[in-house]
Amino acid sequence: MRQIAIYGKGGIGKSTTTQNLTAGLAELGNKVMVVGCDPKADSTRLLMGGSAQKTVLDTIRENENFELDDILKEGFNGIRCVESGGPEPGVGCAGRGIITSINSLENFGAYTDDLDYVFYDVLGDVVCGGFAMPIREGKAREIYIVTSGEMMAMYAANNIAKGIKRYARSGGVRLGGLICNSRNVLRERELIEAFAAELNTRMIYFVPRDTVVQQAEINKQTVIQFDPRSKQAQEYRNLAAAIADNDYFTVPTPMVQERLEEILLEYGTVNKVNYAAAV
Ligand code: ADP
Ligand code: MG
Repeated sequence: MRQIAIYGKGGIGKSTTTQNLTAGLAELGNKVMVVGCDPKADSTRLLMGGSAQKTVLDTIRENENFELDDILKEGFNGIRCVESGGPEPGVGCAGRGIITSINSLENFGAYTDDLDYVFYDVLGDVVCGGFAMPIREGKAREIYIVTSGEMMAMYAANNIAKGIKRYARSGGVRLGGLICNSRNVLRERELIEAFAAELNTRMIYFVPRDTVVQQAEINKQTVIQFDPRSKQAQEYRNLAAAIADNDYFTVPTPMVQERLEEILLEYGTVNKVNYAAAV
C-alpha cells in the first residue's frame, strides 16, 4: 500500500488533480482510498458525483457512536472516499479534523490490505502542525506538491518543502516530485523544471489548463468520467502512470526567498522585445 500526500496552495488544483489521477489509477484496477484533509471538504465531490459526503468531524458531533459506513463512502470506480472536515470558522484548530479522521479510520480498520493507494489531499498554505499530521506520523511517506508558475503557488511549494525536509530528518518521508498544474504562465514548464531542480526534485508531470475541467466540475464528475476520450482525460491517465512508475524520491532542499525570486526573474519574465515574441 502506497500512502501519498498531495500538498499545495489553496485553489491550485489539488482536489481536482487528486480525484482525476485516482480515477486514472482505479481505471487500471487499483484499489484506492482518498482522504480529504481540507476543511473545505470538497476533496471527493467529483468522485461522489456531488452527493454530499458528511465529514468525520460533523459525524462525530452528531453521534459519537458512529460506524465506518458513516464516514467512508464508495465513489466512482470503487474509490473509497473520506472527508475529514474542519471546525466552525474561527474556532479551534483546522488540523484537528485530520488527526481525528485518520485515528478513526485506523480504529475501524479502514486501511485494508487490498488497498493499493491511499491519497491525502491536504491544504498546504496553512502553517499549522495539524496539516503536517499525515507526514509527521509516518502515514504518508510519499509527497507530491501541486504548483503552477505563479509566484504565490511557488512560494507555498517552497514552504511545504521546508516542512517535508523537517520530517524527512526524523522519519522516512520523501518528496516524489512537483505536479505543475498549468496557469498558462510564460515559459511555465521551464520555470517549474528549474524550480524543481533547485528543490532537489523533478517536475513529474505538466498538467495543461483545459476548460473541460470546469465542464466536468459543474457536472460533478472527474474528467475521466465526464469525457473519457478527451485529451485532458489522457493527461490525467499519464499523470497516474507517472506516479505509479515513480521511483525517484528525495529530501527537498528549500530555498531562500531571494533565490526563488531570482528563478522567477530568469524564467518568468522576459524583456519587452522578447515578450512580443513569446506571446
Ligand atoms: P484546491 O483543491 O487546491 O483548493 P481545486 O482542485 O478545488 O483546488 O481547484 C480550483 C479550481 O481550479 C477548480 O474550480 C478547478 O476546476 C480549477 N482547475 C484545477 N485544475 C485545472 C486545470 N488543469 N484546468 C482548468 N481548471 C482547473
Ligand atoms: Mg481542495
